[in-house]
Amino acid sequence: MATRPRVVVVGAGFAGLAAARELSKTHAYEVTVVDPKDYFCYVPAAPVNFVEGESASGETLAFDYALLATGSVYASGVKPPADVLLTRTQRLKQFADIRAKIDKAASVLIVGGGPVGVEVAAEILHRFPAKKVRLVCAHSTLLDRMDPQAKEFAAKWLHQNGVEVVTGMRISDWGGLTDGNPAAATLTTTKGEKISADLVFKCVGVRPATALYAASLQGPGQLSRSGAIAVEPTLQVVGWQNVFAVGDCNTVKEEKTAALAGVAARVAAQNIVLLDAGKELQRYPECVMQMGSNVQAGTAPARFKAFFGWVFVRMVAGSGFWSWVYRQMVKQWLGMLVKDVRKNGKAAGAAAAQTANGAAAAPA
Ligand SMILES: Cc1cc2nc3c(=O)[nH]c(=O)nc-3n(C[C@H](O)[C@H](O)[C@H](O)COP(=O)(O)OP(=O)(O)OC[C@H]3O[C@@H](n4cnc5c(N)ncnc54)[C@H](O)[C@@H]3O)c2cc1C
Repeated sequence: MATRPRVVVVGAGFAGLAAARELSKTHAYEVTVVDPKDYFCYVPAAPVNFVEGESASGETLAFDYALLATGSVYASGVKPPADVLLTRTQRLKQFADIRAKIDKAASVLIVGGGPVGVEVAAEILHRFPAKKVRLVCAHSTLLDRMDPQAKEFAAKWLHQNGVEVVTGMRISDWGGLTDGNPAAATLTTTKGEKISADLVFKCVGVRPATALYAASLQGPGQLSRSGAIAVEPTLQVVGWQNVFAVGDCNTVKEEKTAALAGVAARVAAQNIVLLDAGKELQRYPECVMQMGSNVQAGTAPARFKAFFGWVFVRMVAGSGFWSWVYRQMVKQWLGMLVKDVRKNGKAAGAAAAQTANGAAAAPA
């Protein structure tokens, strides 16, 4: 019989592994991580990085706490469909096959102007500058959820490097193209136009990988229409005290990234510890504090933030001498900040231009 509370982490991606690491540090839990794969896929750098791990299967796992971190699947082949289990060797072969198809294709069509579509287009051009690459997207801009500067930079880079970008074009018929399997196809747009290429990547339709829980999460509002797991601000699954969901598979409205999946995982892991101790849980969006490139999560940063906010308001809003002094200091500090932002903005612009030029000039 277990002497320590058992935590089952489902999914060994960015979120699952971060949570397991956080909990293991406490030495207070028996942590089991479950994943059908026998390797870790570094998705942002797909298709290159694989690190071997261990796999387990066929057991029923009892738990005191569970953390669901099964991520998402894409139609493009950057991740295999959730119901397709590929070994490391099969996955490497899949990447090699896609690479061979790119080698052979004279024209490549990418459908989807989100981060995945833009990245796939840029990667292909970076390595194969002579390919005819076209990217179509249904929205009026690329990267529609992102900052205007990011949109502008991506559109400019792709244009300068020869990608034909067509916005406001929606595909209604995929011409037999299946998910996860880029191939030659002729597609039809909602306006009835036909577009074809030697190789078409379907970079639309990211879906939470939650089919596994569909039967267990039948309660009101537990799964969103897209299949994401609904969570409370504490990252507890709606209707469950001891089950948390983090990363790409939950309904938190944020740009889903590996970085944020890791932060949420740490918050959920800390909440398991708090729950176990009978203490109040922290709320995810409130307990993340970004200091430069360093993201801190937890109740401590949240309290620091609140404390500094309180001190700041008391200092600056008063009418006495010291408040006047603080106001002068804040003015000075703001002046320096503005200068710094301008200087960094210029440096970032120069670096971005250099990166774009460097990428364009890089050999195939
Ligand atoms: C091309 C591309 C580029 C990206 N670039 C960036 C980037 O530059 N920076 C960034 O921050 N983010 C990037 N992202 C997003 C990032 O990869 C995801 O946000 C991140 O992987 C989410 O982490 P996760 O742990 O929630 O899910 P995942 O990393 O998808 O991990 C989920 C894990 O759950 C496992 N699993 C699935 N189903 C089951 C099951 N039934 N039972 C057990 N285990 C299961 C899977 O095998 C997998 O190991 C990119 C994504 C793509 C596709």
